[in-house]
Amino acid sequence: MKTVNTDILIIGGGLTGLTLAYLLRDSKLKVKIVEARDRIGGRIHTLYSNTIPSLEMGATWLGKKHSALVQLLETLNIGIYEQEMSDKAIYEADASNAAQLIPIPPNPEPSHRIEGGSSNLINALAGHLEKQQIDLNQIVQSIHKEYTTFTVKSTTQTYQANIVISTLPPFLLKHSIDITPALPADLLGIADQTHTWMGESIKVAIAYKKPFWRTINGTGTIFSNAGPINEMYDHSNEELGLYGLKGFINGAYFTATKAQRQQVVIRQLQKYFGEPAADYLSYEETVWRKEPFTFTPYPGYIMPHQNNGHTIYRQGFLDGRFFVAGSETAAQYPGYMDGAVRSAYFIHQAIQKL
Ligand SMILES: Cc1cc2nc3c(=O)[nH]c(=O)nc-3n(C[C@H](O)[C@H](O)[C@H](O)COP(=O)(O)OP(=O)(O)OC[C@H]3O[C@@H](n4cnc5c(N)ncnc54)[C@H](O)[C@@H]3O)c2cc1C
Repeated sequence: MKTVNTDILIIGGGLTGLTLAYLLRDSKLKVKIVEARDRIGGRIHTLYSNTIPSLEMGATWLGKKHSALVQLLETLNIGIYEQEMSDKAIYEADASNAAQLIPIPPNPEPSHRIEGGSSNLINALAGHLEKQQIDLNQIVQSIHKEYTTFTVKSTTQTYQANIVISTLPPFLLKHSIDITPALPADLLGIADQTHTWMGESIKVAIAYKKPFWRTINGTGTIFSNAGPINEMYDHSNEELGLYGLKGFINGAYFTATKAQRQQVVIRQLQKYFGEPAADYLSYEETVWRKEPFTFTPYPGYIMPHQNNGHTIYRQGFLDGRFFVAGSETAAQYPGYMDGAVRSAYFIHQAIQKL
């Protein structure tokens, strides 16, 4: 097993970890990111293709109020654009009543998307780092602190560092990494009750040759209580002439097979748009519940956003040099991309004070 020495070890190469490494890029400290997946981005994952629109399987939307994220995007010269909503939506109140077209008023705070896809932000941050700063395919299994040194063991490597930052959702951290000496009981208790934002969601995206929904119903916006699609939006790349719809289906469908989900999704779209809906180029999905580096089942019911942003996350542990970071821990907009950026800024400041 190889031992890698670094000053700062960041566990997780999602938006929090990459933003933090980006903020530390000019410091004299050696910074390393260790990432379990074979890709960076975590809960941000854009599927790119030349033949279908880029499809967001994770985080997609931001608002102008998400000022930390907006500012980071501006610094990186990445633009944002308004989500296409149309002025009407297909609405299904329940399974026993026919879907209807309802007008939707202009949103005073419209949702925006990131130019080039959400992963454009991830790739831009990584572009400011040295390639060897990020180790992929390394699942961190244990963290042990002795005197002033942390020893972190992953799939095939051992890291030694003076400061360690976890960017895992706190519940996942508690249930997947063995930490000695033990973290304080109050922190573990809160982490055990901290909801992982969107962990139960299922994203589906369907690419088409033509945006037939615009001519048939005048909209690709869908809100349905009958499901399985609960909400869906036009997800086209207009300038490239690539078209698609993307949304969420009821999380309970995680027990079905991909083929079963695909069938019920297409059937629901056929109900609204007729035969053109069956003539698709591709069906993509991500069942986030089945992503072991995002989600692990809760022993009981945890409410959406429960304990997100809890003040316990605003301090260092193990002599102040181990931090529990990540979007869920942010003081503002926890759970959102903006929260991830804010968490990175907070940890960056905390490290300066050590
Ligand atoms: C379906 C979905 C839709 C969303 N939509 C939106 C949206 O529209 N707008 C918005 O603002 N936010 C949205 N979010 C939330 C947003 O994606 C997150 O807030 C943000 O990406 C979290 O970044 P993070 O770095 O804190 O965590 P993560 O992205 O979860 O990063 C943690 C990283 O740690 C890695 N990791 C896990 N375990 C280990 C281990 N043992 N060893 C090493 N590495 C490990 C993971 O692979 C991951 O890369 C959405 C999320 C999902 C899932």
